[in-house]
Amino acid sequence: MANPFGHGGEHGMIPTLPGSLSVVVPCFNEESSVEELVARIGRAASGLVADFEVLIIDDGSTDGTLRQARLLADLDARVRYVSLSRNFGKEGAIYAGLLHARGESVLLMDGDLQHPPEVIRMLLEKRAETGADQVIARRTRAGDPPIRTLLTRICYGLMNRAVDVRLADGEGDFRLLSRRAVAAVLELSEANRFSKGLFAWIGFPSATVDYENVSRAHGRSRWSTRHLINYGIDGVMSFNSRPLRTMIHLGYVITILSLLYVAWLVMNAIVFGVSAPGYITVIAAVVGFGGIQLLSLGVIGEYVGRMYVETKNRPKYFIAETGGSGLGGFRLAEQLSAGNEVDVRRVERQISPQSPRDA
Ligand code: UDP
Ligand code: MG
Repeated sequence: MANPFGHGGEHGMIPTLPGSLSVVVPCFNEESSVEELVARIGRAASGLVADFEVLIIDDGSTDGTLRQARLLADLDARVRYVSLSRNFGKEGAIYAGLLHARGESVLLMDGDLQHPPEVIRMLLEKRAETGADQVIARRTRAGDPPIRTLLTRICYGLMNRAVDVRLADGEGDFRLLSRRAVAAVLELSEANRFSKGLFAWIGFPSATVDYENVSRAHGRSRWSTRHLINYGIDGVMSFNSRPLRTMIHLGYVITILSLLYVAWLVMNAIVFGVSAPGYITVIAAVVGFGGIQLLSLGVIGEYVGRMYVETKNRPKYFIAETGGSGLGGFRLAEQLSAGNEVDVRRVERQISPQSPRDA
């Protein structure tokens, strides 16, 4: 059974065309790259797949990205765009893209030309060769500044110690997914999305293809060091509750130590009589325990915060505008009515018929 849901993943109306490919590109202020990107994807993909579409997800760009997308969709029937109502972040844009892609397989890539479209050929060939559900483009770190490479290494080293899924350096969102892998990722409908981990979590056979890193052509990356650190925390927290466990370990080690210390003090008092010194010890204990307690509270708070966000169960994005035809020649705008939210949820249910939310 090639397609367990019997449809192409959208509104239950459009069957996926065999051999078709959707290239999903989340774009936030990529005005200067998007045109070249679409042209290069076109050159790279034509002849390789039976039919393809480029699906631009405009993630609330404040520059001319949407204007470019409209133009491109007018020029080329294979270009389709979905414009979100504001900037929801790359993860939200990816979710929207996967949800609206109609291809039998879906290729996810960045809009800033850091993922060279020429790699698409390698990905497709690897897929044909191995039949893997996920073909991952792994970038080598040739063009990166050394500090960044080092930071990233450390980040991954730490994260892989803490996380249950395997995360590999250089393996990001640039990958080719089979229809069932797309359906699986969409079933993980959490609000705090950490796609790198989600892709690893769903499993399925995967293969990798190496490509040379390219520096950003225009604009600048929105990943500062602070972002990277937060990304690391996200990675750890999204995939397990180990930090909570660590706090318990820390708690009993400290409890045992302090009990021993108290016992020693009592012994001392009994043997030598009560004496006043101990100011430094008291202050050290107060400050030390205060710090540990705050840290622990922070960790708990982080999980509670995440639960809060998840229980609100808000849509991951809203669509403000769509256009273009893409695969199957349907105009998305004609299918999406004004009631975006209702629509998105209905689609989600169709994609995951057994989702616990409906049970
Ligand atoms: N992006 C997005 N929404 C955001 C931030 C980024 O859709 O809020 C897109 C961006 O346009 C690009 C991709 O995600 O196509 C990767 O972003 P960026 O280049 O900033 O990240 P990096 O390549 O440094 O990981
Ligand atoms: Mg980039």
